[in-house]
Amino acid sequence: MRKLLYLLMLFSNLVQSQTTVEMIQLFNKGKYSKVIKQASSAWQKDTTNIETSLLLGRTYTELKKFNIAIPYLNKVLHANSMGWAWAEIYLGKCYIGLNQKEDAIKYFESAIRRNETKNSRQSATVLLAKIKGENNFKKWETIKCRHFKFHFQNKSVIADFKTFIENHDKAFDSINKFFKCRLVRKINYYIWNDRDLAEIVLGKSIGFAVSSTLTIHSGNNQSVGHEMTHVLNFRAFFPSYSSRFINEGIAVYFDLDPRDKIAKAIKRNHGEHFSIYSMWDDKKMEEGRLYAIGGAFIQFLMQKGTPKQMKQLLSNQTLDNAMKIYPHFGTLTTEFESLFFTKPLPLNSNL
Ligand SMILES: [Zn+2]
Repeated sequence: MRKLLYLLMLFSNLVQSQTTVEMIQLFNKGKYSKVIKQASSAWQKDTTNIETSLLLGRTYTELKKFNIAIPYLNKVLHANSMGWAWAEIYLGKCYIGLNQKEDAIKYFESAIRRNETKNSRQSATVLLAKIKGENNFKKWETIKCRHFKFHFQNKSVIADFKTFIENHDKAFDSINKFFKCRLVRKINYYIWNDRDLAEIVLGKSIGFAVSSTLTIHSGNNQSVGHEMTHVLNFRAFFPSYSSRFINEGIAVYFDLDPRDKIAKAIKRNHGEHFSIYSMWDDKKMEEGRLYAIGGAFIQFLMQKGTPKQMKQLLSNQTLDNAMKIYPHFGTLTTEFESLFFTKPLPLNSNL
């Protein structure tokens, strides 16, 4: 009998969850009147169902019936269940609709802090930025210096602003002693403090440089030299072929972090085996490790070779070209790799 009761309970839960799934599908298709009809009848049978409450709140918000939506959404917030972030996001939308901007901001900020899911955090971030006008570059603060036109999403997050600007100008002068590149105009340098928003607006995470348009998108705490090196390298040599290993390696080499790149890469590599030949065009290798070893290899080649040889390599970054530029390239790579390995390679290794 107990078993039968259990099965009956299970079955009723199953039916209910199927109905909820159907209602969510209708909501996603924008069939709001059908959702209201089904969800209202489900709600009359069970006013403790938080999923139905959230769905009714979201649907009434979409229908711009904000005052009806708010009690349903508040009910979700007061229940001890998941879905709080979405309830807050929709409450925020309701308060925008009711022209109560401060209340809307409060709910969006809370949904971001709650960090319930990636989707909810990103949606709240976009809505908050929209309401504050932060996704509009025209509202960003712009400051020109010798080599850059900086655009700040929020200048106040930079502790020492004058030093920040000067450091970038000085870094440009120092790195460009090698590249000797004359840019047609200043680099547009966007400094974001909201990484989530940056990812949504730009379609990828910061920092990165778009060398062809002389643009950099970065956070406020990234290495000073890395992204500008990408721009200078591209503009100085217009490489006929770019290898990620070499391209990132040169940017790491000039990132102006005073620590020795080889020592840093040895530490980062944790004694794992690799070969320069196989990582040259490796598109799958973990970014941090590839960058560190790339920076170390560029430092090694700078020590073993001449600036002229490095410039030839940067102009055409194929492995064939490297072998033509550096006599005994094979010996050089073996010497470099041996700095990293404490144990010999296994006999059957194909690295
Ligand atoms: Zn890079």
